[in-house]
Amino acid sequence: MSELKHLKSEWKAIMSCMGCGDCGYAIRPAVDRYLTCPVKEAKGDEGFEIYFSRGRMNVLKSILLGQIPLSRELAEFVYQCSECGNCTEVCHMSQSEHIVLNTSKWIDHVKVWEALRQDLIEAGFAPLDRHGQLIDFMNNDTMRNPYGEEEGKKFEWISEFPEIKDKGELVFFGGCTMPLRQVDTLKSMMKILKAAGKDIAMSKNEWCCGSVALRIGDQSSLIDIIKHNIDVFKNMGAKTIFTACAGCYRTWKKDYPELLGEELPFEVKHITEILAEMLNNNEIPFKTVEGSETITWHDPCHLGRHMNLYEIPREAILKIPGLEFKEMKRNRNNAWCCGAGGGVKSQFPDLALDISKERISEAIDTGAQLLTTSCPFCINNFESAYKEMESEDQEKITVIDIIDLISSKI
Ligand code: SF4
Ligand code: SF4
Repeated sequence: MSELKHLKSEWKAIMSCMGCGDCGYAIRPAVDRYLTCPVKEAKGDEGFEIYFSRGRMNVLKSILLGQIPLSRELAEFVYQCSECGNCTEVCHMSQSEHIVLNTSKWIDHVKVWEALRQDLIEAGFAPLDRHGQLIDFMNNDTMRNPYGEEEGKKFEWISEFPEIKDKGELVFFGGCTMPLRQVDTLKSMMKILKAAGKDIAMSKNEWCCGSVALRIGDQSSLIDIIKHNIDVFKNMGAKTIFTACAGCYRTWKKDYPELLGEELPFEVKHITEILAEMLNNNEIPFKTVEGSETITWHDPCHLGRHMNLYEIPREAILKIPGLEFKEMKRNRNNAWCCGAGGGVKSQFPDLALDISKERISEAIDTGAQLLTTSCPFCINNFESAYKEMESEDQEKITVIDIIDLISSKI
């Protein structure tokens, strides 16, 4: 049996699970909580214990007690978790601010799942096939992105914007998904910044933030990646770096300082914070908008539950002209995941799609014509699900990144 180094460090958390099952079954209408685990729900009748937190915790207890070993079969089950963190919000023994018992404040579920993934990798039972490929691409010196694209491709769009500087106090971290899969949204971002008279700098030497490897549980090359990226931005004179990806944001703001054991030498912001600042200062010159559309906001897990950034995107939406805001039934810390995170989209695409369809249906139920968010993974997964929906449902709603939405009104 492997040393279980990482799981042992989560021993208190794992042993604290009291087996109540709220992580699988909780319905609390008084606080807008309607079920907890998107994977368990998407599995339907097959959603037995190992697919949600209680069953996993029981398996982990048995592993720590030496009763069962780690295995490849276990890995196939436990990577079917989007690491959305919804179980932490409902768990009586968790970090949740909403449930405080004398015995609580023990379980940070995503931390436990990532400890398990690290031990599975170190024991040779993971990564799963597709995940291993993504990590290899990310660490490849000619790529430095998990999509397997040649490194320069990520920066091609920059040539259209000579106003982007090489050095400066406000630096944009482009990440991988937007420049390689949603480049038009980056162009929309530049349109907004230009209209607001904001200068930004960017480097063609940034590497993938490493989020994909962290979530999968492989930290072997992370310190090199972190040091490289920090050096790049330090040399540019950065005081603030910002990103349009919720995953990059969590990785930069939460994981980098934790892994380094020290504060970063600059502030890290998400694009919604930059947009909210510009909107609050009336810096975005909107054209006259006639009529009104209804809109709802999806909280990306890496912005909301992982980073507590709930109100700023809403504040931004309320300042955009011609919109009437409607909240989904499950919002903020109760928001239903889009299904893409934790490596689910790459390794288990059908599961990711099923979860995503459920979230789009919830958005349609509000009567909103627009579903907006600010995470390229959520957008990508929603767009895949949208393509598979009935045309009558497609007609009811449009999925749009908040950046494209603002840009369309300038
Ligand atoms: S809600 Fe928390 S304590 Fe209850 S079964 Fe799930 S993990 Fe265990
Ligand atoms: S993190 Fe999300 S997907 Fe994973 S077990 Fe918890 S509720 Fe389910």
